[in-house]
Amino acid sequence: MKLLVFSVREDERPAIKAWEERNGIEVTQVTVPLTLENIEQVNGYDGICIQQRIDIIEERIYEKLKEFGIKQISLRTAGYDIIDLEFAKKYQLKVTNVPAYSPTSVAELVVMQALRLIRNNPIVEDNMSRGDFRWGGMIAKEINTLTVGIIGAGKIGGTAARLFKALGAHVIGYDPVQIEDLKDTLTYMNSQKEVLEKADIVSLHVPLDGKTKHLIDAEALKLMKPDAYLINAARGPVIDVEAMIQALEKKAIAGAALDTLPNEQYFFNHDLSGKELPGKNLEKLMHMNNVLITPHIGFYTTVAVQNMVDSALGSARDIIQTGKSENEVSK
Ligand code: NAD
Repeated sequence: MKLLVFSVREDERPAIKAWEERNGIEVTQVTVPLTLENIEQVNGYDGICIQQRIDIIEERIYEKLKEFGIKQISLRTAGYDIIDLEFAKKYQLKVTNVPAYSPTSVAELVVMQALRLIRNNPIVEDNMSRGDFRWGGMIAKEINTLTVGIIGAGKIGGTAARLFKALGAHVIGYDPVQIEDLKDTLTYMNSQKEVLEKADIVSLHVPLDGKTKHLIDAEALKLMKPDAYLINAARGPVIDVEAMIQALEKKAIAGAALDTLPNEQYFFNHDLSGKELPGKNLEKLMHMNNVLITPHIGFYTTVAVQNMVDSALGSARDIIQTGKSENEVSK
């Protein structure tokens, strides 16, 4: 069996090599994403594995894959919105994702940012960068005195809840699907509204879909306490960023930590040093000393990268060998 892996990053190479040796399956690594222009290179392989931002929208790509005898498209990511599932079905291509590569990876980032916010760390660092080492007025709160509100208590939200609980926080949450095992960790509220009203730290872990776009809008922000913090490590459009900036400017909330932002494909993981930042909102947020921004690095740990590679290549192998994979997302 021969697999072709697209968009390989340097940090993935050792994980891919290790999988190849463990499984005795030949794996070719290329750094380019899969496009119509370079699809001919798939000819001669048994399967493909991808991870890319460029949508695969051209029907011809799916048709070509079928022509080459390919039976699957394996994604090394949780999201699979870059794939046209109808075309995949039409050309009998089974699509797989990596549903959970390391919830702890994202949850640990969230806990770190929550602690930094409540210690006034961004303000302290901002002052110190200007040579101001005073701490008067920056008395911090301890996490064990606070209520953390998790909106979307699935794999990542549930893991974050457990970490916060272990630090002594009171954890509440809202999720239409309640998990029995989590009930010792977090107290489920009946609505998102209750979480927003009660929490000192609100952390968002919902998927982005038609219903969760701008889940946190001006009205939702009004429900939060003025000394509460907002954390988003889900997807940028879950927050109405304009409304959040207004709330931060009016001091209607105390601060925010954002690992995801709308239109992040234009700046996250790009070197824009010395260049103008795209968009006024990003510019504003970058200059707020009560806002922490990370460039969508929640997923980026050694454990998560190894798991992504193992799971994605394993799914490709399973579909080729047995026609089935537990990670199939195609209709
Ligand atoms: P999951 O499916 O396990 O959990 C999502 C939960 O949200 C589910 O329990 C679902 O019932 C709940 N939910 C859906 N709509 C809701 C709503 N309106 N209000 C409250 N709860 C709602 O997914 P997960 O693995 O925990 O991932 C959550 C999100 O984290 C992903 O969809 C993705 O957007 C994001 N993510 C970010 C990174 C990163 O690097 N920052 C990495 C992986 C995933």
